[in-house]
Amino acid sequence: MTSKDDVSNLQASNAQNEMLARFFRAASDGDVGTIRRTSGLFNSVDIDERNSNSWSALMLASRNGHKETVDHLLNSGADSTLMNKSGQTARQIASFWNHDSVVATIDKFLSPKSKTRLEHVNYFGTNSADRQSYRRKDVEYVESLKCQKSTKYIVFSDLQLFRSNDNRRPSIRFLSYDQVKDILANANHDIIYIGNGCITGNDTAVESEASNTAYFAVNLKDINEEKFPSESLKGEFIGKGYAPTLMLLPKEEAGVVAQARSVLAWHDRYRFCPTCGTETNIAESGYKRICKDADCRSHQGVHNTCFPRIDPVAIVLVISSDGKKCLLGRQRRFPPRMYSCLAGFMEPGESIEDAARREVFEESGVKVGRLEYHSSQPWPFPGQLMIGLIGHAITDDIEVDQVELEDAKWFTKVEVAEALAAGFKRSEGLIVPPKHAIAHQLQKSWVQMSSNL
Ligand code: ZN
Ligand code: MG
Repeated sequence: MTSKDDVSNLQASNAQNEMLARFFRAASDGDVGTIRRTSGLFNSVDIDERNSNSWSALMLASRNGHKETVDHLLNSGADSTLMNKSGQTARQIASFWNHDSVVATIDKFLSPKSKTRLEHVNYFGTNSADRQSYRRKDVEYVESLKCQKSTKYIVFSDLQLFRSNDNRRPSIRFLSYDQVKDILANANHDIIYIGNGCITGNDTAVESEASNTAYFAVNLKDINEEKFPSESLKGEFIGKGYAPTLMLLPKEEAGVVAQARSVLAWHDRYRFCPTCGTETNIAESGYKRICKDADCRSHQGVHNTCFPRIDPVAIVLVISSDGKKCLLGRQRRFPPRMYSCLAGFMEPGESIEDAARREVFEESGVKVGRLEYHSSQPWPFPGQLMIGLIGHAITDDIEVDQVELEDAKWFTKVEVAEALAAGFKRSEGLIVPPKHAIAHQLQKSWVQMSSNL
């Protein structure tokens, strides 16, 4: 028997497939209007979605020489470094078919002068809020921001994010002061100042109007969506644990959620003074906790107990000594056939380089020489900073540490390129982490280091 829910789920997935088909057709035909209507912040198609042959819209538009479409897709955040199953990027496809103006458009976008491409920015790393850290001690100023008409609140309950409960792609449900003031008056909560700016920044019209909006984030205790006082506050809380749903947010929102969730998670767990055990008060707009005991040692000298903690993790893509393979490992908790870069928490008194070499050696027995920095990624579950490196092996023999890893192996560029293009739901062969993970971006960079697969 088919339930009502099954029928509406099926209808929703048919509508989504239909929308995707229109999106890819528009990219092949150079129809910018349809691309605008089907993708972007308020529509359901992800700009980097792949068709059944693993081609993205940018690749299709590049194949057919549609310069304006390519320009629109790049400016809408399309990833020009994606590759098809043969390891070709949109630029290589355009070049193969002699679409010189498309090649020039992509090159212009990738040039060091293009401010969006100065460095690799990972998911959870885009945050346009001006944190104004120098104003956090100005209680009067921050209090005055809280009740302004334009001020927006990002609401969590037990560290789960409040979103609209429509069927669109997950997005923060921002609330105004009027909408939260009763809840704040009646419920136990932590509140922090995020910063000023315009967070839903895709729409330039909105940006110029609201570029100085103040944002706060609140973590409510023991409040679910049913306990919200007003009918107009329809929504739901998402993101328990590692929270794959939080990876579906627009990237402009993901960075702010990373900031908010990490700081709120710290408040949630560090309620007492680590030095003397007395209760602490929240201070500096949410970026410090101060011991209530005036005689406590923590009030003198330099301490790291009063500030939100960040836990650095070194994550490494190791290249074999002949440069042809990369080292990936799998933990028991991973989905079947998934392998990822090796990683580990840094220890006190350890450089990033030494932590990376130690973790790789302990887990796989492979010795790493030279290391290069790639990029970093805030990971708000609860407060890691992933530091991504490319490492060059000086020995290739693997001896797996069975406690930490189930397996570790060398993979060829073809294997990795195919896995990157095939995505997470692949039915056979190697699976690599999704594009939101820095591991995916490290693997992609390696595959692109030389296009000769
Ligand atoms: Zn104390
Ligand atoms: Mg480890």
